Amino acid sequence: MSDDTNLFSLSGEIALVTGATRGIGAEIAQQFRAAGADVIGTATTAAGAVEIADRLGGDDAGKVLDVASDESVQALMKDLAERLPTILVNNAGIVRDNLLLRMKPDDWQDVVNTNLNSAYRLCKGCLRGMLRARRGRIINLSSVVGAAGAAGQANYAAAKAGLLGFTRALALEVAGRGITVNAIAPGYIETDMTAGVTSERKDAIVTQIPAGRAGSPLDVAGAAVFLASPAASYVTGTVLHVNGGMWMG
Ligand code: NAP
Repeated sequence: MSDDTNLFSLSGEIALVTGATRGIGAEIAQQFRAAGADVIGTATTAAGAVEIADRLGGDDAGKVLDVASDESVQALMKDLAERLPTILVNNAGIVRDNLLLRMKPDDWQDVVNTNLNSAYRLCKGCLRGMLRARRGRIINLSSVVGAAGAAGQANYAAAKAGLLGFTRALALEVAGRGITVNAIAPGYIETDMTAGVTSERKDAIVTQIPAGRAGSPLDVAGAAVFLASPAASYVTGTVLHVNGGMWMG
């Protein structure tokens, strides 16, 4: 029988959440803080970093980061040398949708670089500290599109599917060191990323969702708190689908 330790507490953890200005990342940062973590959220602009710090209530809680740049990630890791994350959420992401025949080389490169190569950069940057701490949690934001595909999103689907393979491979490498690596694959979540969808299209998507509604950032943040918490210490290399039942691969 276990003692009465709070299985979902993140007290004593330092969490780095990329793309924490808005949407899913902002909610994950907020819920991590509510669970007791010391949270660092990133924005692409200095103004965004200040907003994050205001929201999370700590001058040092907001940092500027471009996940698509090696130099930017290296600079952040240098800045965090005395405050190495024990939890990393690779959340920052973009879409540049188009049918493949019309997709520009930059639309391919930017999406793969921002959504997939970023995980390589940030995991490498954070792993040393986690190995030293002998514990760590890495959570990669994939997508239902990475599992099921979507017309007009070959770049995004490739990056998000790549994240799933990356998650499994890294999970195997570090499982014996107290570090778990998992992915969350959200379905249709109402954020700026999906704000451009017409109401007709949204209605059509929602009819495909057994839960009968679009998801919210809080739906995804709940899954992230679980995977980051002591409750999930024996969960690694998995993908948690948060999609109201729209895909159950
Ligand atoms: P969002 O509302 O569009 O927010 C994107 C976040 O990523 C912002 O904080 C943005 O920062 C940051 N970002 C963009 N490019 C960046 C870069 N180069 N470097 C650092 N940060 C960057 O997106 P969301 O809907 O919350 O999505 C969050 C994650 O969930 C993404 O990985 C997305 O692919 C995934 N996802 C979303 C859905 C959905 O339906 N919404 C479904 C499945 C998966 P700024 O504000 O500074 O630009």
